Amino acid sequence: MNNHIEQQNVRSTVDLPLLALRGIVVLPGMNIHFDVGRKKSMAALDEAMKSSQEILLFAQRDLRVADPSAADLYEFGTVARIKQLLKLPGDNVRVMVEGVGRARLNGFITQRQFILASADLLDEPETDGESAFAQALIRELRMAFDDYIAVAPKMSGEVIMNIMTLEDVGTLADYVASNILLNLEDRQAILSEIDPCRRLEQMVKLLRSEIEILSLELDIRSQVKEQIDKNQRDYYLREQMKIIQQELGEGENIQSEVEEYQASIAKLELTGETREALLKEVGRLSKMVPGSAEATVIRTYLDACLALPWNTETRDKLDLQRVKNRLDRDHYGLEKVKERIVEYLAVKKLTPQHKGQILCFVGPPGVGKTSIAISIARALGRKFARLSLGGIRDEAEIRGHRKTYIGAMPGRIMNAMKQAQSKNPVILLDEIDKMCSDFRGDPAAAMLEVLDSEQNYAFRDHFIEVPFDLSNVMFITTANVTDTIPQPLLDRMEVIELGSYNEEEKLQIAKRHLVPKQIREHGLSGRSLRFDEDALREIISGYTREAGVRNLERKIALCCRKAAAARVMGKQGITRITVGQLESYLGPAKYKFDHASKVDEIGIVTGLAWTSVGGDTLKIEVNAMEGTGKIELTGNLGDVMKESAHAAISYIRSRADYLGVDHDFYKNRDLHIHVPEGAIPKDGPSAGITMATALISELTQRPVRHDVAMTGEITIRGRVLEIGGLREKSMAAYRAGIKTIIIPDGNRSDLTEVDPTVRKNVSFVPVTSMEQVLKTALVPMKKASAQSSGEREKTLEATLLEQPDGKRRSAAIRQ
Ligand code: ADP
Repeated sequence: MNNHIEQQNVRSTVDLPLLALRGIVVLPGMNIHFDVGRKKSMAALDEAMKSSQEILLFAQRDLRVADPSAADLYEFGTVARIKQLLKLPGDNVRVMVEGVGRARLNGFITQRQFILASADLLDEPETDGESAFAQALIRELRMAFDDYIAVAPKMSGEVIMNIMTLEDVGTLADYVASNILLNLEDRQAILSEIDPCRRLEQMVKLLRSEIEILSLELDIRSQVKEQIDKNQRDYYLREQMKIIQQELGEGENIQSEVEEYQASIAKLELTGETREALLKEVGRLSKMVPGSAEATVIRTYLDACLALPWNTETRDKLDLQRVKNRLDRDHYGLEKVKERIVEYLAVKKLTPQHKGQILCFVGPPGVGKTSIAISIARALGRKFARLSLGGIRDEAEIRGHRKTYIGAMPGRIMNAMKQAQSKNPVILLDEIDKMCSDFRGDPAAAMLEVLDSEQNYAFRDHFIEVPFDLSNVMFITTANVTDTIPQPLLDRMEVIELGSYNEEEKLQIAKRHLVPKQIREHGLSGRSLRFDEDALREIISGYTREAGVRNLERKIALCCRKAAAARVMGKQGITRITVGQLESYLGPAKYKFDHASKVDEIGIVTGLAWTSVGGDTLKIEVNAMEGTGKIELTGNLGDVMKESAHAAISYIRSRADYLGVDHDFYKNRDLHIHVPEGAIPKDGPSAGITMATALISELTQRPVRHDVAMTGEITIRGRVLEIGGLREKSMAAYRAGIKTIIIPDGNRSDLTEVDPTVRKNVSFVPVTSMEQVLKTALVPMKKASAQSSGEREKTLEATLLEQPDGKRRSAAIRQ
């Protein structure tokens, strides 16, 4: 505030009472009223009223000072005329003043009762209001004021009018400063500026900055308002929606649904994490539109979770005698299996904490694996559920899909738990050897987690998400063979083998279990339908060929069905099923047992195979023709079987002299090895000696004994190596009417496993070398059967006999 005051501006110097103002600056021309409370101020007013009614108004620099000295006041103030005085209740006075002109404080004269001060009264300096500069300023101010009223609080029309019409630069500045909201310092600055043009210039600046602040404020205010508006709008819409839903009768539904879910969750007495997770989902549901897709997803999820047996459990009846009785009652034979099950449960009873191995029943179909598992569950008083793993390629089948996928569902394990409705059921995992793995993940890995007692107490299904305790479940698995079970899984399992049944066993099972069961299931009674024992035997041998009894049961069921139908049609009395009637019940017999050929033939040998459905006989045929040494293998053979054929040929070439085979047979003969029933894929090394025998028989033109069958792997040096599945293979051979079976010496120990009936009727010849095989299998030259030579051309036999060293060769083989 650098006001240089020219001497001519000072109109006069006066001594007048002074009123110190707090928070107010009065400008010349301004009418204002304010309240006065301080004693000195009231005394000053009184004094002024007594004389000229003029008073000096100077603003205090610091509002807190109660009794200001001259230094506490601004240098510039106003001389004002008192227009009105009003006594207010409680010693206060309201005064109305009008600013007259600017004044500069020279100092206080006295300040005892009131302040009497000396001040210079200042005139407005002369300005040329018409000058371009002044006009520009006025215009600028008016424009600024225009902008100002756009953002400022409402302004009276009169004020606007005055500002638009006032022409005097200084007065205009004072008028604007008096009528807009300015803070104390800014208004004082205007008052202190004596030069009118500079004052107006300053006023324009102040206006502009005020506009800026105001528009900022306005922005902020509108943003805040927008936010509030949005909240209010949402609230309003939601309230409306509620009412609409109520009108439609839906709103209550979701609310009552939510409450139902909450109640069900509370009833389940879940642990912390699970409970929280489910309640969170319920919370989400409550905020959703009832019919929306999302709400449906949540409902499906909650329903799936609530259907699980989180806390339901059955009490185990670990009475071993009871278990044994139950197993005996439900199943014939299988003594070893039952014994091992009882032992297994005994260990479980003694060490309940010890989770132990998982039982795995291995054997061909229909031998009772499933039904034993069911018996175990019944005997223990546990619930039972079964799930088939056959053909599962996708990990998600076991573990489920994440619930964010459309149509996602829990995996099979969780489904089995839901089915069982108890957290400690017996779960049968069928066909664990038939799981495959591909790009969709490895189901075996998921199974490993299910079966591993270290991990399965917190099994996480992708859909259910929260962990589920599987540690109390008793898992039992079944498989046809163990070869294809992944090793880590196999390590966790205790394998119990169930072999195929012989005819006698099948007959007993049929008599004791299958027939009564089927009669019962078909609503008949033992008095209305009876099976002759011979008829059962005929069904077993003529109508079924299997390791187990599944087809047998089906055939019996078929007979029962026909008998039931006849009964309903009015047939009275007892129906007996005899051998003679079987054809009318089941059609003509499918299998004729004695299908081993009755003649010794050249180049045809009976081998033995082991498939997942039990043992079977396998004919191998060889033809040798004039040619260039081509070898052809047909009959759907696998790689291992083809290699066996080459090994056999290699052996024959290396022993050509000894065997009496033409040295160049592999150059001038074409060999064709065929295994009939080409539709069935065959593989494995155990046909090695069979192929070698067929080849030698063909190349030496010696017939092979028709009642001999063989199994064994061959090495290129003619050693015979052991094979698997002897029990099943020997049973198939027996059924086919074979009298002698050549087996590798290494399998001698397996003979104890062979069914006693088979052992009684078939002789086993253990061998270590190919020479021994030939000795047993080939018909000695002299005895070469007439039929055989009869089938071939006469000349063949003649050529054979004509060979001078024929005898010597046969002797060599017999050595
Ligand atoms: P798997 O599971 O081995 O394929 P199942 O358990 O389904 O065989 O058995 C097929 C049928 O044969 C069932 O009805 C079962 O009761 C019956 N069965 C199998 N073995 C016996 C047995 N030893 N005693 C009584 N019934 C048996």
